Amino acid sequence: MSIIGKDGAPVSAAQIQAALQRLKEAHLTEGPSSAEQRIDRLDRAIALLLDNRQAIAEAISADFGNRSHEQTLLSDIGGSVASLKHCKAHLRDWMRADTRPAPFPGTEARVEYQPLGVVGVVSPWNFPIVLAFGPLASIFAAGNRAMLKPSELTPRTSALIAELVARHFAETELVTVLGDAQVGATFSAQPFDHLIFTGSTSVARHIMRVAADNLVPVTLELGGKSPVLVSRSADLRTVVERVLTVKTFNAGQICLAPDYVLLPEERLSAFVEEARRFVAQAYPRLGDNPDYTSIVNPRNFDRLHGYLADARGKGAAVLELNPAGEDLGDRMRRKIAPTLLLDVRDDMQVLQEEIFGPLLPLKTYRDFGEAIDYVNARPRPLAAYYFGEDAAERQRVLERTTSGALVVNDAMTHVLAEDLPFGGVGHSGMGAYHGIDGFRTFSHAKAVLVQSPGGEANLPMRAPYGEMIHGLLDHLLTP
Ligand code: NAD
Repeated sequence: MSIIGKDGAPVSAAQIQAALQRLKEAHLTEGPSSAEQRIDRLDRAIALLLDNRQAIAEAISADFGNRSHEQTLLSDIGGSVASLKHCKAHLRDWMRADTRPAPFPGTEARVEYQPLGVVGVVSPWNFPIVLAFGPLASIFAAGNRAMLKPSELTPRTSALIAELVARHFAETELVTVLGDAQVGATFSAQPFDHLIFTGSTSVARHIMRVAADNLVPVTLELGGKSPVLVSRSADLRTVVERVLTVKTFNAGQICLAPDYVLLPEERLSAFVEEARRFVAQAYPRLGDNPDYTSIVNPRNFDRLHGYLADARGKGAAVLELNPAGEDLGDRMRRKIAPTLLLDVRDDMQVLQEEIFGPLLPLKTYRDFGEAIDYVNARPRPLAAYYFGEDAAERQRVLERTTSGALVVNDAMTHVLAEDLPFGGVGHSGMGAYHGIDGFRTFSHAKAVLVQSPGGEANLPMRAPYGEMIHGLLDHLLTP
């Protein structure tokens, strides 16, 4: 059975366990997959996505209310295909054993990268394809099999993924489990050889707890509040254009969206003016504009409006960038205008919770050191974005703050660099994938030592102990 939970059928732990068992048995009986088999799986994943791109874009858009087709093709389809192709091109190199210096005369030492076996993948709704197929690219490149549990918040997309996976992959390669958080909890409690979870920090705590029962290693790809640090040396128009391009993409429902901006106090009004100009140009209309993505569901729509009400109530100035002055109250269409928040205080929800929407609080500083201190007083973010030309400041951000990534003079574009590890640190996650880092995450680096014919390294341990061991000990125990 390649799909568990089809058409809303109840999902039991026994079903998941049986599918996992089949995958594990295939791993054992068929042995490690060859480079050709890995490339074949990657090719089938590419074909699945490219042949069905239109249906996938329509399903995501129907799930969101409106999701720009171009954004889907660029991020979900294009992003996945880029990772799959990169893995295809490099996996033979990555698979090569890594020879290490011989530790004793006549011995050989090397690291062999062995598939882990069966990897569980739990994915979120905001980029439902690339956050499933991105990890799968690394998982297949490393020679593994997988089980995928996509999000219940994009039900049409998840059902379509399951159906396409069943058509392109055998049940001994990849199985999809459909269902809600409860199914996710059952899924995460299984004895996978590795589990990768992409989602919220709060759910990650449950994942790690249940994975611990089986000592399943986890990779956690989480969110958080990624700051933008704007230098006095930055060109403000460039800052605004690049930050708002990302903040309005998918209506800010991105783990890497710039969450708040720290800028010099005298640049605040210029930032606001540039932001008005940018939004008027990029999104002259919002409500019926197919380029502007909806908020995924009423719960998230209400959550974001709740943040705005909370901020207003606590004295923030809320500037809606709504060029045509449209009424966006419709909970069916769920559009929220890009919105700047000024005069913000740290007890406001927008500065406490991950925003995950098109709201952008602006905080000011007098001295750049205040911006660094502000970031360091909070959980470690998935990314930090520094804009400016001041080399000393840039170095300070690099060395004095800790984040999954640092992007200079842009936001989020590091995710496109397949050769860079993609992952968080602290509350924004642990472990990484993409490129060789993904291959290594889903491989076991096995130490292999081949003893010399004479077994010299073994002899000193052999009793009875005499002159030889004492000579060796004299050498070993000398500083
Ligand atoms: P979520 O944590 O609510 O859900 C993610 C997945 O976990 C879903 O498939 C869900 O069914 C499942 N799940 C829910 N409760 C579970 C439980 N108790 N046990 C096991 N599985 C459970 O996250 P979301 O709302 O889908 O996504 C938004 C969050 O994901 C944001 O915090 C965002 O920053 C983060 N995110 C991170 C990345 C990244 O790559 N680092 C990418 C996208 C989103």
